[in-house]
Amino acid sequence: MITTPEPSGAIPDRTIYERRESAVRSYSRSMPRQFGKAEGVWMHDGQGGRYLDFLSGCSTLNYGHNHPILKQALLDYIAADGIAHGLDLHTDAKQDFLATFEELILKPRGLDHRVMFTGPTGTNAVEAAIKLARKVTGREMVIAFTNGFHGMTLGALACTGNAAKRGGAGVPLSHVAHEPYDGYYGADVDTADLLEQRLADPSSGLDAPAAILVETVQGEGGLNAASPEWLRRIADIAKAHGALLIVDDIQAGCGRTGGFFSFEDMGFTPDIVTLAKSLSGMGLPFALTLLRPELDQWSPGEHNGTFRGNNHAFVTATAALKHFWSGGDFQRDVKRRGDLLETRLARIAADHGFEVRGRGMMRGVNVGSGELAATVTAACFDAGLIIETSGAYDEVIKVLAPLVIDDAVLGAGLDILETKIRDAMAADYAVAAE
Ligand SMILES: *Cc1c(COP(=O)(O)O)cnc(C)c1O
Repeated sequence: MITTPEPSGAIPDRTIYERRESAVRSYSRSMPRQFGKAEGVWMHDGQGGRYLDFLSGCSTLNYGHNHPILKQALLDYIAADGIAHGLDLHTDAKQDFLATFEELILKPRGLDHRVMFTGPTGTNAVEAAIKLARKVTGREMVIAFTNGFHGMTLGALACTGNAAKRGGAGVPLSHVAHEPYDGYYGADVDTADLLEQRLADPSSGLDAPAAILVETVQGEGGLNAASPEWLRRIADIAKAHGALLIVDDIQAGCGRTGGFFSFEDMGFTPDIVTLAKSLSGMGLPFALTLLRPELDQWSPGEHNGTFRGNNHAFVTATAALKHFWSGGDFQRDVKRRGDLLETRLARIAADHGFEVRGRGMMRGVNVGSGELAATVTAACFDAGLIIETSGAYDEVIKVLAPLVIDDAVLGAGLDILETKIRDAMAADYAVAAE
């Protein structure tokens, strides 16, 4: 079903990247091909290679590449000279988006949150969220968690755990405490208890926080999924201590874990929610910060940004909401595929004594070492499967297939993963036996 990529056409001259593109580039190093087209779950390079995409732009392409309905909506809008950029002016596209988001997402979930358009990337939404929390509470300190990832600008980076990423800041990353996430000390230690104890103790050294910032499933941090009970406890602790609860749903939201939000049906409501990645549905930059109405204490223009009105993204986001989120079919499909993914990964993991991580269609296998994970993902790429790693040591191979993937194609991709893990383990044993 999956064709192994075979270079057939002329290999393009890629020296321009060596010569001119900053050394900061990363994905292009582990996937050294040049891509030209993509549709659905497939990416194509210019040499006849076809790749199954189990990365989906880190969950930015939950509906696949160039979904025909989203693409047509955008083509029609551009053909009719629709507004492309409008600062934060009222536009037809913005009204459509807001009305649709209210009708299909917020109202059915009983959320009265206001919608703040931030700059277009995830880190912009996080910056807005923590800035607002500090402004409203008059406090400085934010509690984030071990292995959390929230973006690369200074405020969001301060909330990010990874030392290599933090090291790029060049200035102290302050006013954030990194507390242990659910399960950090193993199953026997309830880290919500530890946090509560530290906040209650006037001598713990932990200042009263403006906010507690949490991912329900840690995307970059290794697919650690917090339990609903733990998240409810964190929500209660935030409330008891006058801190705002911010759920960073940038990667786990937009259907990745099943519901539109990753915290649905868990019995708590975040004060603030950040969304980005798959929000536009087509890979166009678009981020939002949702806030409870009483928190909307901004004065006009106090937090600003030139690209808060990506109208093309409003158009595709609206089309995606109408197509996928009007009824329950899509959610049921995602649930079924998530179960399928869990079953298959559990089998693969059991063969080698590995551990499955994550929730919904946001799952992976902890293979115990970054080296092994890199060997496996490189072999997968050579076999036509785009797949990446996450975790403190890049030791978790993460499956972020488009949510719309055909069950059989999902299975075929997992066959490749299973084979490449088996091959890598066999090679490991061979080396050990020498
Ligand atoms: C990707 C991500 C961000 C940052 O989004 P950018 O668009 O890369 O700035 C923030 N939080 C989470 C949970 C993410 O996965």
